[in-house]
Amino acid sequence: MPLFRRGERKPGPESPASPEPAGPSADASLSPLRGVAAAQRPASQPVPDAAAVARFTANEGDLPCRQRGCPNHNGAPCNYVDRRGRRCDTSWCPNHWATIGGIVYCRRHAGTIAAIGYFEHPAGMPDVDNRAPSLVNWVARDLDPFVAATLVQCAEPGETFVREPVVSTYVDRAGGRRYERAWKLVDHTGLRLSVGVFVYGEEDVTIRVRVGTALVAEGVPPWIERRQRGLEVSAEVDRNQRALFYGFLQKHLLAAVRAQRAGEERFQER
Ligand SMILES: [Zn+2]
Ligand SMILES: [Zn+2]
Repeated sequence: MPLFRRGERKPGPESPASPEPAGPSADASLSPLRGVAAAQRPASQPVPDAAAVARFTANEGDLPCRQRGCPNHNGAPCNYVDRRGRRCDTSWCPNHWATIGGIVYCRRHAGTIAAIGYFEHPAGMPDVDNRAPSLVNWVARDLDPFVAATLVQCAEPGETFVREPVVSTYVDRAGGRRYERAWKLVDHTGLRLSVGVFVYGEEDVTIRVRVGTALVAEGVPPWIERRQRGLEVSAEVDRNQRALFYGFLQKHLLAAVRAQRAGEERFQER
């Protein structure tokens, strides 16, 4: 099978794996999720002039897969390009790549795109070596049921629980660019209580949890610490370490939410 790389057009009919052209302009206004919907749209719908569109396709390549222990040599490069125009230099076989809209990415950059969306960033995508958006999104997803339950349980009458669905970017005087997912209780007067999980772009391995404006817990997730030290552990040890890490964050988050609510009550009684 002939090989096609970034931007090359494959002649002849589309392979079954990519029924729709997935070029940049086809994806331009689409988030990853909507990109999936677009792939299922009827064929009668107008599509961009295929000849004029540079197209990425999720074809196998001939590069060694970067996944540790994977012997495959049919890897394709990750197509992530950051705001400085730098590319990700990793390659992955079909077992270990992630595709969004038919475009191949490594799992980390697929996570970055899932976290903040690809085309809504006038300042460009985060640096190629920045794991912050992806990490925040992973941890927020794991913490979500706990945070949601905590806030819903402590909501006062008239307050509504709101979950921010994507990672937002802020510029912080203290730590520079900050990537955050947040949960809130709001009422007719506005914000009543907010909880956020965030990572600074400059220091993108430490997860921090805030309640209101107070930082209540921080730590490097065990799977990242292990990677930094080159350690491998069994699945069971991994599960236990993750549970300890999340338990730690949850304990401090819960205590801070309760303290804040108790403080509000005292304030109201005065
Ligand atoms: Zn592989
Ligand atoms: Zn990548």
